[in-house]
Amino acid sequence: QLYGDTRANSQGVNIDIEADWEAFAAIIKPFMGTQWQAGPIVNGQLCQTGEQHSVTAPYQHSETVGQVYWADADTVQTAIAAAADFYPTWRATPVAERAAAIAKLGDLLEANYGELMALCHREAGKTLQDSIDEIREAVDFCRYYAVQAQEHLTTPHTSQDFNGTSFVTERQGRGVFACISPWNFPLAIFLGQVTAALAAGNTVIAKPAEQTSLIAYRAIELLLEAGVPAGAIQLLPGDGATVGAPLTSDVRIAGVAFTGSTETARLINRSLANRNTAPAPLIAETGGQNAMIIDSTSLPEQVVRDVVRSAFASAGQRCSALRVLFVQEDIAERVIPMIRGAMLEQVVGDPSLHQTDVGPVIDREAQAGLLAHIERMQQEATLIAQTPLPHNAEQGTFVAPTAFEINSIDQLGREQFGPILHVVRYKASELDQIIDRINATGYGLTLGIHSRNETTSVHITQRVRAGNMYVNRDQVGAVVGVQPFGGQGLSGTGPKAGGPHYLKRFTKTVRVTQA
Ligand code: GLU
Repeated sequence: QLYGDTRANSQGVNIDIEADWEAFAAIIKPFMGTQWQAGPIVNGQLCQTGEQHSVTAPYQHSETVGQVYWADADTVQTAIAAAADFYPTWRATPVAERAAAIAKLGDLLEANYGELMALCHREAGKTLQDSIDEIREAVDFCRYYAVQAQEHLTTPHTSQDFNGTSFVTERQGRGVFACISPWNFPLAIFLGQVTAALAAGNTVIAKPAEQTSLIAYRAIELLLEAGVPAGAIQLLPGDGATVGAPLTSDVRIAGVAFTGSTETARLINRSLANRNTAPAPLIAETGGQNAMIIDSTSLPEQVVRDVVRSAFASAGQRCSALRVLFVQEDIAERVIPMIRGAMLEQVVGDPSLHQTDVGPVIDREAQAGLLAHIERMQQEATLIAQTPLPHNAEQGTFVAPTAFEINSIDQLGREQFGPILHVVRYKASELDQIIDRINATGYGLTLGIHSRNETTSVHITQRVRAGNMYVNRDQVGAVVGVQPFGGQGLSGTGPKAGGPHYLKRFTKTVRVTQA
């Protein structure tokens, strides 16, 4: 039996059922007034030297959630030195021991469900359902990477040549890995990167998104409690200029795992390349301009359900979310009014309430960008529908789910990371043309297809460049080990998170020849 080996993903709960929802609302209740404290963790110690920032709830800016010290320049240097010092020890620690600690973290996350849910909810503005799904994904990453490490990184590959010379090939951690993570999955992606890098034998410096340092801090406390030694994991909350930039330009950094915008991935790549040392790998998971294509054979009811979930769940703040829906002309007059109807039924508001479908976006800057895009679209496109906002929406950073009909995907510039859907009508004869336009965006993350004609769906999956394609279902919510996640082109470097090739990229191979 391997550590973390449940051979199954953690249990799902659908809290559409009111009694289940009440049970979860009860477990987070004790944490609804908690004030969390956080800051850099260097060699297991909280550093309280940098500037202190208050964290407020995205759905209610008058609600303070906690305080966080951001790392200052000295703390960044101390953390890098600490991680570099400990690397030889951690690399030499048996894989089973590293995996045991990471698997244990999965158990501790489950044991702290209520507090972690409250953090996802209050710091990141997630609905209760999204908070549950987030914790489950984090637990799955811990168990999956623990098992992957034991299965793929322990046994050295040995071989012999004709005269008896034997060769041993072994996988080892690369050194100090910087893990730079986003706010949209502040626990799952944060811990996915960190646990993969650790399981593979690297020491880690984790830089969480500025918006979600509290949950990252709590996760690292649990990682230490699970038995990961203090030298192996350093946490540096703070901004890109003070933390990210010095990390990616430091010669002691052996690799970077990054999830976030394509622009930032490019900056990191440049910074790594400019160092006066060997190039280091960048494992980047970036944006998308994700499309769904629905043809005239698809089932409108199913399409509408999957479109609404893909575009608006999690307030559209998923890399995988649907941005551009291509509807075959023949069914457009049926489907578009149904999408409109479904959008008007959506409830936007306080994410702690059972009836809420769509919570806030993360902060004012995100809100302003999305509202500017909506304003631009109002000039250039036809409004299909806009979900009403609650009367007290100005207490938080809400953006109404909005859908526009546009002429072409070429009208859109960069990805809009929020609940905005664009709809394009196409004629059956134009299918290959729209596939070309989708590929011409340069992105390649997710793609949805709705068709009951298998020839069509196979044709599309073979021609569109996308890392994760979904046929006759929604296109969000990839499951660890089931739908390894990650894109191509401008959407990322691979390998896919939660897949069998991920850990290897965090390692180097060493070959010993014995005469
Ligand atoms: N894995 C997530 C999904 O399938 C998206 C991850 C992201 O937003 O970065 O929805």
